[in-house]
Amino acid sequence: MVIIGGGLAGGNATATLREEGFQGRVVLIGNEPGIPFGRPPLSKTYLRREEDLGGWYVKPADWYQEHGVERLVDSSVVSVDTTAHVVVLDSGRELEYQKLLIATGGRNRRLGLPGADLPGIHQLRTLAQCDAIQREAVANRHAVVVGMGFIGCEVAASLTQLGVRVTAIFPEKVPLMGTFP
Ligand SMILES: Cc1cc2nc3c(=O)[nH]c(=O)nc-3n(C[C@H](O)[C@H](O)[C@H](O)COP(=O)(O)OP(=O)(O)OC[C@H]3O[C@@H](n4cnc5c(N)ncnc54)[C@H](O)[C@@H]3O)c2cc1C
Repeated sequence: MVIIGGGLAGGNATATLREEGFQGRVVLIGNEPGIPFGRPPLSKTYLRREEDLGGWYVKPADWYQEHGVERLVDSSVVSVDTTAHVVVLDSGRELEYQKLLIATGGRNRRLGLPGADLPGIHQLRTLAQCDAIQREAVANRHAVVVGMGFIGCEVAASLTQLGVRVTAIFPEKVPLMGTFP
């Protein structure tokens, strides 16, 4: 069983397979470092340095080895051959599978604008991106948050609680309008 995506879905699928008695080989492939965890604290308590991620791990770090789960981190699947039942990693390594679960989740919509990759402009999805925002979240600095969906609102609130002055930019009349039209 090969699972692509080491997020909440991939991690929980791995755990469920073992907990429901699947004894075959399980390989969990993720392109982030670390073990599967829930992202909610990245815009809230972790961003505000109120807790670490210990309580958000799907399973503790030792669990995977103890349960015979092979984890490939910092590895991207670049192609899947569903006829030959093979996935190919960015390293060139090929892995055969009998069953494949694609749990590659979501990704941020990026601002397709010149300058959108300049230093000081952040995205928020991964732990590394959260850490980068946290390092710059210093009291009395000024942040601009683009987008006022759930995560934009949460980040604006968290930064405010850290003493950062926040300006929010969004095209709707009020925050969360896309969520609660
Ligand atoms: C900051 C933040 C706060 C959030 N807060 C909440 C909340 O409070 N409540 C809530 O319900 N939801 C919240 N969410 C949403 C929630 O985190 C997502 O619903 C959840 O992450 C979905 O899990 P997933 O495993 O399906 O996808 P993901 O978490 O996106 O995981 C998919 C993984 O697959 C990897 N991947 C993608 N392509 C490949 C590839 N080709 N090869 C290898 N790996 C690949 C990705 O890099 C990623 O690591 C939040 C999200 C963010 C970013």
